[in-house]
Amino acid sequence: MTFASASSRVDNIRHSLVGLKMPRALEVLDTTLRRIEQGEIDGIEAIDDLLTEELSLRENRRVKAALRMARLPILKTLAGFDFSFQPSLDRNRIMALAGLDFINRAEVIHLLGPPGTGKSHLATALAVEAVRAGKSVYFIPLADLLTILAQAEREGTLREKIRFLCRCSLLVVDEIGYLPVTPGGGNLFFQLVNARYEKGAMILTSNRGFAEWGDLFGDPVVATALLDRLLHHAVVVQIEGSSYRMRQHADLVPDHVRSNSPLNNPPPTPKRRRQPPKMHRDPSYG
Ligand code: ADP
Ligand code: MG
Repeated sequence: MTFASASSRVDNIRHSLVGLKMPRALEVLDTTLRRIEQGEIDGIEAIDDLLTEELSLRENRRVKAALRMARLPILKTLAGFDFSFQPSLDRNRIMALAGLDFINRAEVIHLLGPPGTGKSHLATALAVEAVRAGKSVYFIPLADLLTILAQAEREGTLREKIRFLCRCSLLVVDEIGYLPVTPGGGNLFFQLVNARYEKGAMILTSNRGFAEWGDLFGDPVVATALLDRLLHHAVVVQIEGSSYRMRQHADLVPDHVRSNSPLNNPPPTPKRRRQPPKMHRDPSYG
């Protein structure tokens, strides 16, 4: 190829990359061509490099946009979780959950434990894994969820709101039990849970044992109906450790606060209409 025709080919490539909206490939084109001229790479490697660069730009953008849509309050990863700090937690079990089969099976993961034991961290990290794998995720604290559901009910748009909250393949409801549930809140939460039941996966975090749900939701009937759905295809991960937040000040925390886990009560046995509830415990979860 003459110098003139090579240079007009490169112009063509540039033009095509602009037309195809491939900004990253356009950006690295000159460097790639130089590497071919210097004999560092051949034509096939050059094409591979350009496409890989463009694809990783797009993938990063997709993940960023999906993370924004998921409304994660803060980015946490499994790599950033110190399992040695929480010996009660089975690392293999959490890593098996990160395989995300529970999403395909529309299961519910309960992360239970006292404050500061990493429930929100793990829920967020699993949500990040799901986003990376191309799943749609929505993260919301229970108090905010109940506020938006109550508002939708007042405005006559509850059905649409519930439909919206059923669209994501993973819904994370954080902080069940920290704030009192407003009257009617349990009923609204039940309508959402019932709509997602066996259709969409959820991760729930709570500092309260299931036996306390009647008090928490101010209505034992609603609480039993909720647990009926939420324990049917469920994985319960109970963390029984001390607060990571207080790790440097553990000696200043009185014993009764440290050991005051509200999770010592056994769960009630919810009654099912058709079949008894069975806790789905996949052997792969350990
Ligand atoms: P919880 O939701 O159980 O109250 P968080 O998940 O919010 O607790 O954890 C509190 C803080 O401590 C967060 O900044 C979290 O990232 C961090 N944290 C908790 N447990 C661990 C851990 N085992 N390894 C690393 N960071 C942790
Ligand atoms: Mg939390």
